[in-house]
Amino acid sequence: MEFKKNTVCQVEIEDIGESGEGIGKVEGYTLFIKDAVIGDVVVAKIMKAKKHYAYARLERVITPSPFRVVPRCSFYRQCGGCQLQALSYEKQLEFKQNKVRNNLIRIGGLTSEAVDKAMEPAVGMDEPFFYRNKAQFPFGVDKEGKTVTGFYAGRTHSIIANTDCALGAAENKIILEKILAYMKEEGIAAYNEKSHQGLIRHVLIRKGFATGQLMVCLVINGKRLPEEKRLIEALCRIPGMSSISISTNQEKTNIIMGKEIRLLYGKEQIEDTIGGLTFQISPLSFYQVNPVQTEKIYAKALEYAALTGRETVWDLYCGIGTISLFLAGKARQVYGVEIIPEAIADAKKNAAYNGIANVDFFVGKAEEILPEKYAKEGIYADVIVVDPPRKGCDEACLCTMVKMEPKRIVYVSCNSATLARDVKYLREQGYEMERVGVFDNFPNTGHVECVIMMQYCGKEKKK
Ligand code: SAH
Repeated sequence: MEFKKNTVCQVEIEDIGESGEGIGKVEGYTLFIKDAVIGDVVVAKIMKAKKHYAYARLERVITPSPFRVVPRCSFYRQCGGCQLQALSYEKQLEFKQNKVRNNLIRIGGLTSEAVDKAMEPAVGMDEPFFYRNKAQFPFGVDKEGKTVTGFYAGRTHSIIANTDCALGAAENKIILEKILAYMKEEGIAAYNEKSHQGLIRHVLIRKGFATGQLMVCLVINGKRLPEEKRLIEALCRIPGMSSISISTNQEKTNIIMGKEIRLLYGKEQIEDTIGGLTFQISPLSFYQVNPVQTEKIYAKALEYAALTGRETVWDLYCGIGTISLFLAGKARQVYGVEIIPEAIADAKKNAAYNGIANVDFFVGKAEEILPEKYAKEGIYADVIVVDPPRKGCDEACLCTMVKMEPKRIVYVSCNSATLARDVKYLREQGYEMERVGVFDNFPNTGHVECVIMMQYCGKEKKK
């Protein structure tokens, strides 16, 4: 068989790829097929052919997999948001657990026995829908010229009109429909990226799941909205509405939020609580998107840190200090490091608000602050917690961490490939991976979070 563009073939899906796509083989040639589910027999059409593999489009399912479920959202194939909605939740968790396991073996250099001994069962959600406390919806026009809002179709900027995303809060739909009605009544145009004309670009909606407080921030290509009062009146009747604001963004940019924010109604911030701590969240703050799973992952990080109340702990990549504040209750002293100054300002406010005095925060790159403080002040740590972005830790940061010789390193990760790379480095420097916890913070998507604990053994430590 010749494999080139537009070749149509029948294939059984035997594996799941990195992003949740189905993988099957025909005559030893590998096909990656988005939306095909492990266990399916499908007909697929090759879109892009390489020497040993191709990307193909799912044409039809001949024999559905026993793991197939009916996706809750009718837009799931067009929308870029969910990759796994057609796979049973149990199987999703198994896929995520395997992804972490395989990376630790393949990239981390651990044996399968060592990984299996350390690994705990994946922690999923009871209800794997409606878990996102934050969403940003773009506004635009459809083919008929009607104003719509929803989500960008995968890897494009064309909007799929959908006010009812199955991952978000139920209130999103009510809020979006009120905004669309207001735009229609007042004749307000949605922003057009090409012409740089039109007013309303995006809306950011946030909900404090524990408090029920709602925040709406409209991002506009201007300073004011016509008849602001009418919009406020429509939105403020929604139960829980606590903050309505405008963010001005007049740049030609893909960055959603503008820097300037003007409050129209209520307070500048909403509140939410995680595990007994209260956080104030403003439109621009970083805040974990799935608070239910976040609480579980933080509890696991705290368990792995095994604090007694006497320890000095460093929390690197601390964001608004959420993990730092959790640790502070069980440690003598916590130091947080974070690159974004506004996040550190929030972290300090959150510490004061919760009456926590044994934390200090520093603004800067972890890979610069830590080596500098180690060289100048000889800083010390019993335990170091890191929670880096997808690219993982910088080697300069890992190198200083090793020099500080903490008893334990707790690594929270949103990318198990870079985690595994860093685990390999730390293992070469005298740390051994003892525990692994896998958490599903983003059900129905290909993402997986994990937290691991590494213990200092020092035996084979190289200088
Ligand atoms: N621990 C926090 C935030 C984790 S997200 C929480 O659970 O909420 C990762 C954080 O690392 C982000 O806040 C990001 O701004 C920060 N960051 C990215 N690169 C960094 C660097 N080189 N040094 C320090 N912080 C960094």
